[in-house]
Amino acid sequence: MIRVLFAAPAKDWEEYRDVLPKAITDAGIEAEIVLETREPETIAYIVYAPSSRLRDFAPFINCKAVLNLWAGVEKIVGNETLTMPLTRMVDFGLTEGMVEWCVGHVLRHHLDIDRDICRTDSEWAPHVPPLARNRSVGVLGLGALGSAVAEALAALRFRVSGWSRSPKALPNVDCFDGDAGLNAVLSRSEILVLLLPQTPGTRDLMNAERLAAMPQGSVIINPGRGPLIVDGDLLSALDSGHLRHATLDVFRTEPLPSDHAFWSHPKVTVTPHVASDTRAGSAAEQVAENIRRSEAGEPLLHLVDRGLGY
Ligand code: NDP
Repeated sequence: MIRVLFAAPAKDWEEYRDVLPKAITDAGIEAEIVLETREPETIAYIVYAPSSRLRDFAPFINCKAVLNLWAGVEKIVGNETLTMPLTRMVDFGLTEGMVEWCVGHVLRHHLDIDRDICRTDSEWAPHVPPLARNRSVGVLGLGALGSAVAEALAALRFRVSGWSRSPKALPNVDCFDGDAGLNAVLSRSEILVLLLPQTPGTRDLMNAERLAAMPQGSVIINPGRGPLIVDGDLLSALDSGHLRHATLDVFRTEPLPSDHAFWSHPKVTVTPHVASDTRAGSAAEQVAENIRRSEAGEPLLHLVDRGLGY
């Protein structure tokens, strides 16, 4: 019998209290799940949400892995007390949710849906958008989420290009990497989706120079992380008319402060970090599978590279 610490806010346990024990049992593991402990040396695995109060991992001297419930690990990857393997969440619910959110927001801007939904006059003024095959969409980050989004957009026949750190090959997606590759994607993206993790290498990526490299009248959609964009540079690009719109789901400070310029800007859509969420059922299965793998001496799924920060 192994002991698993579930380190997450109480509301998360409500979602996991049935599915996590079942998933671990179904994986053939006998485990006791605890919500707190005075005997940290007895804990074999920590199932972790970065919104948990747990910050000091040093007492967990026999912990074999920390299994993160979120896809993003920027809040935990630099924690020097966390010396055991760290995994991040990749689950089909998270991926499908992100695909739906991104496709929805890309289609909004592609079809200019606001033009009719937000109409305030009675003018009968037909407007015909281009077909998707004549619209270029870029996706920065071609990981679990970005590659699924790029493929879904390509299936709708958008002209999709994508960018990642290492070279990639995806069907019907023009894949680029490196500095030159970034410029190639930016310069052709009428709609740009950011699905990069927050790392030292991606922070402030979308600054004035890179925003200026995007086509006149283009749109940026950010469900990645707030610090990928320099807020002031984005506002300048919107005010100058270079960018047509920004749809932002993530921010440098969350919740977005009520006096932040994004809230009232006519060319900014704010969504409250809802692009996608971990679904307890499928996430519990991934956690259980990683515990099974670890106990069997097999490599863990979705191991975080501390050096790269994701
Ligand atoms: P992955 O780790 O699977 O993918 C990250 C991608 O970014 C990879 O393609 C990686 O390249 C690329 N990348 C990383 N650093 C660089 C760099 N310096 N230059 C170029 N490319 C880089 O992550 P996911 O797809 O699972 O998630 C992406 C992010 O989405 C998360 O980190 C999180 O911030 C955000 N997210 C937001 C949610 C929301 O509700 N708004 C929900 C879930 C996640 P390579 O393939 O070469 O490694």
